[in-house]
Amino acid sequence: MTTISGARLFDGTDARGVTTVTIEGGLINAVEPGERAGDVDGRGATLLPGLIDAHVHLRGAGNLGQALRHGVTTVLDMFSAPPQFTAMLRGRAARRTDEADLRSAGLMAGAVDGWPAVMLPPDPSGWHMPGLSGPADAEQFVAERLREGSDYLKVFVENAADVSRPTLTPETVAAVCAAASAHGVLTVAHAPTRWAFRTARDAGVDVVTHLPLDGPLDAPDDELAATVVCPTMTMMRALTDTANTAQLLADPRLVAGLDPEALAAMRTGDRGGLPTSSAAGASYAHAEDNLRRLVDAGATMLAGTDANDVPGHAAAVVHGASMHLELELLVRGGLSPRDALRAATATPASVFGLPDRGRIAPGQRADLLLVDGDPLADVTATRDVRGVWRAGVPVDR
Ligand SMILES: [Zn+2]
Repeated sequence: MTTISGARLFDGTDARGVTTVTIEGGLINAVEPGERAGDVDGRGATLLPGLIDAHVHLRGAGNLGQALRHGVTTVLDMFSAPPQFTAMLRGRAARRTDEADLRSAGLMAGAVDGWPAVMLPPDPSGWHMPGLSGPADAEQFVAERLREGSDYLKVFVENAADVSRPTLTPETVAAVCAAASAHGVLTVAHAPTRWAFRTARDAGVDVVTHLPLDGPLDAPDDELAATVVCPTMTMMRALTDTANTAQLLADPRLVAGLDPEALAAMRTGDRGGLPTSSAAGASYAHAEDNLRRLVDAGATMLAGTDANDVPGHAAAVVHGASMHLELELLVRGGLSPRDALRAATATPASVFGLPDRGRIAPGQRADLLLVDGDPLADVTATRDVRGVWRAGVPVDR
């Protein structure tokens, strides 16, 4: 049994004042107001649920350790390949206490010979990424992913005019959504342009990720209010400039948990091969204006980074550390610190059907983040990590 005493509490929804939290057997046992004798002195700190990054790509087992050291206790992978690699990571997450837990979409739905298949390096085993040639392929694609263990479906939505590769038609996107819905799983759409955002919503996707970089959203407020969106502001910024890397390298709190080889590569100015946005007129200002519009309309917000670093290599959006940049960018884009923290804890747990986490309450999994200061007043306080627990086990940082 461990008692964390005297910290202010953010329970995933709201601030609850000074509290004593007891954990036992991997679960939260008691949450009591006030301060008492405890194993961990939380005075001057804030205790939050472990963060949930609602958009990552897993490229190596090292990603999960780096995420956990930065207080991200669960990652929602939005496309990793091949399936045996994703299965290997699931196995590790079930056994290990030094890596973040994960859920995964597995393979993403895209056109034959289109994105994202063309991003993948040749697989030594000869495996190749399946694609869809039309709506008739949707049911089989979805059924195969569920057999591989996908927790939800990811679908690539881009206008054929904007990318140099074959893309799914709106009818095929809608067929993937219908097939996933019939199997009782969510669909998440990659939609970084106005056309893609509209097409994804019209097709009936459950979660839209990214935000249009090429101009304002053209939907009425009541439609935006009913949208669940994971804006990935860190990636939107990375597609248009190099501010992430500069900001990250300038903050010793973010540098602390990074893989040393990745850090060395970042210091040489290597962007990790990330292309700039191909959409005409792409600008981060459009993404930020669209975020503000969604916030004002009352859309449901999820914090996600699109972290995609290959362990040991540089990347513009890295696991773990980028989640703290994302929270700051969400607040700059109009969310209150409380709403940004909800978007990183209780809201993704609720949207993705993870009832055991994302909140601090008796019976919940003891995924916890203890930070110095008060992130409800200044959200960058999440970087001052004092402690992380994964299912009750303290993380060696
Ligand atoms: Zn992504």
